[in-house]
Amino acid sequence: MPSVAIIGAGFGGLCMAIRLQMAGTATYTVFEKAGDIGGTWRDNTYPGAGCDVPSHLYSYSFEKYASWTRRYPEQPEILAYLERCADKYGVRPRIRLNTEVVAAEFTGERWRVTTAAGDVEEFDVLVAGVGQLNRPHLPDIEGMTEFTGTSFHSARWNHGHDLTGRDVAVIGNGSSAAQFVPRIAPIARRVDLYQRTPNWVIPKPDAGFTLPHRLSFRYLPFLQRAYREWIYRRVEATFYPALRRNGWSAGYVRGLALKHLRDQVPDPELRARLTPGYRIGCKRILLDNAFYPALTRPNVEVVTDPITRITPRGVGSREHDTIIYATGFETSDFLAPIEITGRAGRTLAGQWKRGAEAYLGITVPNFPNLFLLYGPNTNLGHNSIVFMIECQVRYIMACLPHIAARGPMEVRQDAMDAWRQRLERKMGEMVWQDGCRSWYQNADGKVTGNWPGTTTLYRRLTRSPRLEAYGWG
Ligand code: NAP
Repeated sequence: MPSVAIIGAGFGGLCMAIRLQMAGTATYTVFEKAGDIGGTWRDNTYPGAGCDVPSHLYSYSFEKYASWTRRYPEQPEILAYLERCADKYGVRPRIRLNTEVVAAEFTGERWRVTTAAGDVEEFDVLVAGVGQLNRPHLPDIEGMTEFTGTSFHSARWNHGHDLTGRDVAVIGNGSSAAQFVPRIAPIARRVDLYQRTPNWVIPKPDAGFTLPHRLSFRYLPFLQRAYREWIYRRVEATFYPALRRNGWSAGYVRGLALKHLRDQVPDPELRARLTPGYRIGCKRILLDNAFYPALTRPNVEVVTDPITRITPRGVGSREHDTIIYATGFETSDFLAPIEITGRAGRTLAGQWKRGAEAYLGITVPNFPNLFLLYGPNTNLGHNSIVFMIECQVRYIMACLPHIAARGPMEVRQDAMDAWRQRLERKMGEMVWQDGCRSWYQNADGKVTGNWPGTTTLYRRLTRSPRLEAYGWG
């Protein structure tokens, strides 16, 4: 089997490592820049961090877990699940922690991988599992560096800074802020939430699993499989259509969101400020039961005036001792800042200047034997990204024997062009450019994040490599 370098030990990189391990090949190395595994579930430790996809679906199909304590468990449980997977499948010895890959260059036959420490090693195949939400985005606001209080990004939570009795400014109101604002509001003296664009929010049907539930899942595995399948089919059938321009469920989901707002926010003036003016689904729909109630607290204010500057004492004319940037991630420069050089000295950053793209979101012309997990146009607005990652890993595993038999595998430019046209046609059916800006888009407004089809279609398209696309027909 070809040797494989995997970058990142989050859901994607671990899945790749586990599948290689299960296939009985130990010729892989996982490079992880942080001191531990877990990716986004290691980084996002803010109070209330969790996933808005039920964990019975947001987990590997080959490693179902019967003991989730609730439908939507929080970050510690998800991280513990990943750690257990790494242990159970014995991949830890092949993970190099605190080892950042800074460059990878295709030599004509193999990938030469360089780490920040200056070590160089060669592998046949390079798999990038760095995710789309791994580098915190900090805004560029005048005066930011002059602030004399404590400030941090939500994905780099400062647990040493007690928020009790503090005057806190939260900048941003996406999924992260929606989860931690209800946790900090009861202890802070005041929370000013700076909202640039309101989000659509629907109820989160969360519930705990009782012991009988958990025992049933453990001892009646068909029940757990059926439950997982039911969640999958429900989100696919109800929420995917809501993201389509003529989707049948958009009105239904919008109705849910408006009712949720009416039920939870009695004040009409605040309700008006929280009502989005763009089509539902254009930005990520939030699933949350605690965010709106937190915003109605007397010590919380939703501030919609644009932020003009940050002073040493707070945001604009207000005084704060803490600023929390819930301002999302650098999402469109996939793989940055790793310098990836393919055939004939081409760099990935150069090739993707007008937007990242990859055939099936996995392979890139001019970059033989490079495979991406959770690459361009494979994010979802409605279902489990772990499902997409497993499709990609299955595809890569199917490519490896071909590489072993025939040498480097490179997707043809015409296959990439045909894929782009197909994506663009499908993208025209979706709502992600209908009156909003979001992290799904790059700086030019092109949607480089999301997959515009059903996940069932993606699974079918990635079931096995079409060898003609690689010039091996
Ligand atoms: P996000 O959705 O990208 O939200 C960033 C927020 O910061 C937005 O409200 C944005 O305003 C605001 N912002 C950015 N720059 C700003 C500036 N210069 N001035 C004022 N406001 C600014 O980030 P996130 O909340 O961290 O979530 C990112 C993604 O992570 C989610 O969409 C989701 O996929 C995932 N996530 C999921 C969960 C979950 O499962 N529940 C939890 C956390 C994260 P605009 O909207 O106006 O741009």
